[in-house]
Amino acid sequence: MKIFKMTADYHTHTYHSDGHNSVRDNVIVAVEKGLTTIGITDHGFNHRLGGITHADVAELRAEITAVQKEFPQIKILLGIEANLLNLNGDIDLTAEDLKLFDYVILGIHYFTFGKGVKGSFIFNMRNLLWNTKKHRQRVTESYIKAMDNFPIKVIVHPNYATGCDVAMLANACKERGVLLEFNGKRVEYSADDVQALIDSEVGLIMGSDAHYSYNVGNVEVQREFLKNYPNFPLERFCNIKCED
Ligand SMILES: [Zn+2]
Ligand SMILES: [Zn+2]
Repeated sequence: MKIFKMTADYHTHTYHSDGHNSVRDNVIVAVEKGLTTIGITDHGFNHRLGGITHADVAELRAEITAVQKEFPQIKILLGIEANLLNLNGDIDLTAEDLKLFDYVILGIHYFTFGKGVKGSFIFNMRNLLWNTKKHRQRVTESYIKAMDNFPIKVIVHPNYATGCDVAMLANACKERGVLLEFNGKRVEYSADDVQALIDSEVGLIMGSDAHYSYNVGNVEVQREFLKNYPNFPLERFCNIKCED
């Protein structure tokens, strides 16, 4: 396996959601590590344990504008880690909200609240308890509906919080030009999933999912995971650079 490092990190958190540092703290580490771009992607509005508010979004944008002036050598983007809310492809962003962000990444998280108490209760309970083929298929169909209705750039940490059909998801992402993530906190792909990722030719991205600034640009977890697949086509990742 070649040694590689991240060139741009599109998945980082600040204290505006459940991260522990500021935009500036994250940017300092990104600059130290030589990244060309950093995206701030705090948790979406319906994340029960620390999603951002609209007031946070305004503060984040102001912070990014100020920090960008201080560090012109790196591009700083304001994204959002939106939540898939149910099996209908609904996410926690309105058309108006979309104008606030430079890009959207999407995932499933524990304890999100969706449209109607009943709907979200059932979604959360099924995600926790029903790891059936049928459920995984319906989750995947929901991701696909969301991709068709919202400008999603990346599906983050598939198989976290509930399972999905990675082969079906990878093919759908490939068709739509959406990237699939290898997450810096957890990579939960089975050997069959990895083969499906290779076969689908879907575009891939690494995200640190840093909740502390020192983890910005970190690819340790992905590196360890990929040691099991020495022939994995690393060129499929859009944001890493191999060192000779
Ligand atoms: Zn997440
Ligand atoms: Zn995250």
